[in-house]
Amino acid sequence: MIVAIDGPAGVGKSSIARMLAERSAFTYLNSGSFYRAYTYLHQQKGRDVTDLAGVLSTAKEVSLRLVDGRIHADGIDIEEKLRTREVDAVVAQVSAYPPLRSHVNEQLKAIARGEDMIVEGRDITTVVFPDAELKIYFDAKPEIRAERRFRQHPEGTTYEEVLAGVRARDEIDRNKAVGALKQAEDALYVDTSYLTMDEVCEKVLSAIFALKMG
Ligand code: C5P
Repeated sequence: MIVAIDGPAGVGKSSIARMLAERSAFTYLNSGSFYRAYTYLHQQKGRDVTDLAGVLSTAKEVSLRLVDGRIHADGIDIEEKLRTREVDAVVAQVSAYPPLRSHVNEQLKAIARGEDMIVEGRDITTVVFPDAELKIYFDAKPEIRAERRFRQHPEGTTYEEVLAGVRARDEIDRNKAVGALKQAEDALYVDTSYLTMDEVCEKVLSAIFALKMG
């Protein structure tokens, strides 16, 4: 069974999806990690990430595997390398390249085939798994997402800068030619603005169990 989750950056998707996976014994798959991994691996070679065809070649040369929820590239755990400022700065542009999106999507489908998975991203409910048994769209106001992010990482920045960053990422995510962030018509909409992680998790778990029983 696939539980597909989409929503904007900073809405708490990853934390909630991880918590859901622990409580449901599903496997957690973060699609953003794939875009991050290819961006990181290309940067590692000292290559220019604005050469998108080059990033795709890098992607095709390497084998990504999910081991205990962590990304391994050709057998090496690179999970800790994926959320640096260098990757953050360019991953949105890299992920807008349609041929790279097709490559990532093929892998997500291969990994999830026949498994119980919670898959999270921007186009998971609309493009990658439009037939998922359960589709969810998490949302929260930009101000709230920025405040949460700022509280977690206040070092060397201001709330206003974080808010501007959140708005800029929303703009890119919502306007991608392929794989843009949007709510699937049949997705369960959850506004997380005034809910705790536990409350959100309980809502989704109820929906999963209702489906399993039904
Ligand atoms: O979710 P996260 O911030 O880790 O995603 C990294 C980047 O990959 C983001 O810029 C996002 O736009 C992009 N992404 C995407 N499609 C997905 C998941 C992430 O374009 N399904």
